Amino acid sequence: MNYCSTRDKNIAVSAASAIVQGISAEGGLFVPTKLPSITLEEIEAMSRLDYVGRACRVLGGFLTDFTDAEIRACVEGAYGQRFDTPAIAPLSRLNDDTYLLELWHGPTCAFKDMALQLLPRLMTTSAKKIGEQREIVILVATSGDTGKAALEGFRDVPGTKMAVFYPENGVSPMQKLQMRTQEGENVWVCGINGNFDDAQNGVKAIFTDHELANRLTAQGVMLSSANSINWGRLVPQIVYYVSAYCDLLATEEIALGDKIDIVVPTGNFGNILAAYYAKQMGLPIGRLVCASNRNDVLTQFLTTGVYDRNRPFFATQSPSMDILISSNLERLLWHLSDGDCELVKGLMAQLAQTGRYQVPEELMAKIRELFWAGSCDDDQTGKTIHRVFESYSYLLDTHTAVAVDVAEQYRAVSGGAKRVIASTANPYKFSRSVLQAVNAAAAEAAADEFATVDATNRVTGEPVPAPLAGLREKEVRFSNICEKQEMLSAFAGGLGIRL
Ligand SMILES: *Cc1c(COP(=O)(O)O)cnc(C)c1O
Repeated sequence: MNYCSTRDKNIAVSAASAIVQGISAEGGLFVPTKLPSITLEEIEAMSRLDYVGRACRVLGGFLTDFTDAEIRACVEGAYGQRFDTPAIAPLSRLNDDTYLLELWHGPTCAFKDMALQLLPRLMTTSAKKIGEQREIVILVATSGDTGKAALEGFRDVPGTKMAVFYPENGVSPMQKLQMRTQEGENVWVCGINGNFDDAQNGVKAIFTDHELANRLTAQGVMLSSANSINWGRLVPQIVYYVSAYCDLLATEEIALGDKIDIVVPTGNFGNILAAYYAKQMGLPIGRLVCASNRNDVLTQFLTTGVYDRNRPFFATQSPSMDILISSNLERLLWHLSDGDCELVKGLMAQLAQTGRYQVPEELMAKIRELFWAGSCDDDQTGKTIHRVFESYSYLLDTHTAVAVDVAEQYRAVSGGAKRVIASTANPYKFSRSVLQAVNAAAAEAAADEFATVDATNRVTGEPVPAPLAGLREKEVRFSNICEKQEMLSAFAGGLGIRL
């Protein structure tokens, strides 16, 4: 199977090459030119497999240049002891028709682990496959969770180095501590004075600097990406939607062929795009429900057809969704326009120049048929956490709470189908907001982050994940901060690269 760039059909590469490159040289994103399919019979057969078995089957359809043994080795390495449950991505039943797909049982307690425990393995296997000799330097912009998950995934992986930029004032205290205490000899972490979009733009500018790429090649170095612009980040995410359906089938909550809705708390549009791919492959999914926080640029786009990032940026209680440029939308536009690279290129040029684009109505009609969108502000997020804890003794994190609220908005207009909500983080990554919602007095009495963690544990009885509890004793290794214009020189200095 081939992958081409969303902005140039003539660029056709293998999966291995798409994963090693991360982003296409002219700025486009790699997309599969044809999707593999799964039949109902195969879904039924997969419902008898464990997570590793399901992942091998789904990945095999996309990574056609990998052998089965290579895929299995990558998958078994990724989804093992570092997850705190053998189910890897367990489904938790909230009520008769709502299920939470818990994607945060990995080493950094956020759903990014689902992809980033696997990506380094796919990337080093791919590099070997295509004869890439250069050292791979991974550069990441993060709204909080990707950075830590990528650091854990790539730390001390031979032949790789990695640098992470995060918005200094745009991540939770726990997220910041997770990154600043990161271990590993090949990693470097830096805050920027700017928001996530600034960090992402800075990283994209470094990736598309051809002269820089040439100078790096001369030093035996190449750059790649662990953000969801990399195909190797998206493909592992398709697996858990298939797996959730298999679990519902195995426990007889649904019958084979029943349609379920999928609700996803969305930022960069990667996670929900993976659900779209699962649907296009044949997984019986009804609607894809896109949930945003107060930065509701996607809600506006999906309802009006106008994408407009010229709007205030809000720092919310769900910081991993504080994004105004949702990169993966580019892939959706490509697929639904039947691979119209000129259209996509034009829209992305408008976005870069004016911060805005409008999609032709014909294309919007297709998008609306597949997606529904809603948003939820901080106040409503807190109320949702409170209500769900009171009703079901289930503690939501702030991102998942946004999705639960939007799922209810959608139920009010649609009725019917059972729904799976992507639960994207463990609540202890955002303890203060979560405790505030459950018991405001306890939150106010807690003096610092770990006092908040302890109080949350006392009030809710929810266990503190070991990787977060362990941060208390860890030494801070990185306290760098740079201006958004200085990212290139900062990262070169941090990783010992000559410019
Ligand atoms: C990254 C993240 C999101 C957003 O996912 P996208 O793939 O960027 O849409 C939602 N919730 C949490 C906790 C995250 O870390």
